Amino acid sequence: MIYPHYALEVEELTVSFDGFKAVNGVTLYVEKDELRVVIGPNGAGKTTLLDLICGRTKPTGGKITFLDKVLTDMQEQEIVRSGVVRKFQTPSIYPKLSVFENLEVSHPKGRTAFGAIFFRRTSDVVDKIHAVAKEIYLDGLLDMEGEKLSHGQKQWLEIGMLLMADPQLLLLDEPVAGMSVREREQTADLLRRICKGRSAVVIEHDMKFVRKIADKVTVLHQGKLLAEGPMDKIESDPRVIEVYLGH
Ligand code: ADP
Ligand code: MG
Repeated sequence: MIYPHYALEVEELTVSFDGFKAVNGVTLYVEKDELRVVIGPNGAGKTTLLDLICGRTKPTGGKITFLDKVLTDMQEQEIVRSGVVRKFQTPSIYPKLSVFENLEVSHPKGRTAFGAIFFRRTSDVVDKIHAVAKEIYLDGLLDMEGEKLSHGQKQWLEIGMLLMADPQLLLLDEPVAGMSVREREQTADLLRRICKGRSAVVIEHDMKFVRKIADKVTVLHQGKLLAEGPMDKIESDPRVIEVYLGH
C-alpha cells in the first residue's frame, strides 16, 4: 500500500496556560527534506509550538510524532537524542572558546560526562568540524573566539553546533533577527542547503526571507492554524493579509 509518509506529524495539539490556549488544536504535517516556515502575529503561539515539539512544554492535548516516535511521550533529553534540535532566538555559544572548540564540544562524543574527559580529537571529529564550519561560512575563522564573531556569525555558529549531531529535525526561532541584508541572503542559502536529508521548522517575520526559503508556509493566529500552503498562495490570502501581512 502506498500512503503519504510525513516526518513530523502534529495532530490536534493544544496547550493551555491557566485556561488560556496559546496553541489550540493545531494539526500540521512536515515531510522529510521539507523546510516549513511558521508565520503569524506576535502572540500567535509560534514559539510555544516549537517548545511543544522539542518537549520543553508539555501539551494539554494532542499528539506529536516524528519518524514514528511519539515525542509527546518523551522527555526533552530523549527528544534531543532522537535527532530533534532547537535553536532559540538569542545565540548561545561559548564566548571564550574558539569556533573550532565550540563545534568540537557540540559533537555527540563530547557530550557525556566521561565523554568530555576522555574526548579525543579523532580524525572523524576533526573532519566533521571542518565540514560543518564550511557550511556555516566560518571555515576561515576556526581559531577565532566565539565572542569576537559578528552577531550573524554567532547565529551561524549556533546552527553549526546543532549540525554537529546530524539532527533529523531542526527547529529555528527567528534565525535572521538582527542580521544584515547580506547575512540574511547567506543564511537563506545556508538553510536551503542544510534542510536536505532532514526536516526543518523555521519561525520568521522577514517576508522576503520567507519567500526565499519556504517550501510551505503555515500561518498561526491566536493559537490556531489560519492558513497553510505555498508562499504565493499565502501572500494573496485575504485572511492572512487582514491579520498579519497588511500590518
Ligand atoms: P509568538 O511566538 O507567536 O509571538 P508565543 O508562543 O510566545 O507567541 O506566545 C503565545 C501566547 O502564549 C502569548 O499570549 C504568550 O503570552 C502566552 N504564553 C506563552 N508561554 C506562556 C507561559 N509559559 N505561561 C503563560 N502564557 C504563556
Ligand atoms: Mg515567538
